[in-house]
Amino acid sequence: MSAIRKVRRLREAFRALDVDEKRGIITAYNERFLFIPTKLIHAIEDRLSESFGPATATSFEYEIGREGGVQYMRIAEKAGFKFRNFQDLSSVAERLGTLAGWGKVMVHEFDPEKKTVSMRWTDGVSVRNKRVNLPVCHFGRGILTGAMETVFGTACDSLEVKCQGKGDAYCEAIIGAPEEISRLANGLGS
Ligand SMILES: [Zn+2]
Repeated sequence: MSAIRKVRRLREAFRALDVDEKRGIITAYNERFLFIPTKLIHAIEDRLSESFGPATATSFEYEIGREGGVQYMRIAEKAGFKFRNFQDLSSVAERLGTLAGWGKVMVHEFDPEKKTVSMRWTDGVSVRNKRVNLPVCHFGRGILTGAMETVFGTACDSLEVKCQGKGDAYCEAIIGAPEEISRLANGLGS
């Protein structure tokens, strides 16, 4: 994509943002948003992990994210975005991802027949300075999974196969029908 087109796209995304100083609220695409520090997300992650253990915390974050993803797509739908093909989906990912500050989200591969998608992103909110052994983007993966459930019209599962949190150059999640994902998970030996 040309630089000019890129700038125009981002400008369009941010034009959707409206700060109502009188009421103290932020809206975009007629929906209220909340501008919160990423440290608050980290505090939620840490608290969940301390209280319930890492496995349960991961699942909570993922499920909460998933609900968020459904909401994001509802907003996108109302705002007139379409999800018919790779290009449509890339545009939604880029605009909503950047607008909401989730990081640079890209659609890497999209297979509407098999109902699988590979999404890549950088600078995810859950990636911190300390290096860990397992993927950390449970909120983010949840959001993308919920979003893709809307697109595919079916329940989805997902796997974060690469994560900046463990030293990869970018994060990547494969999202699709649960049987596809468990086949993939078994193939990866995890
Ligand atoms: Zn990640």
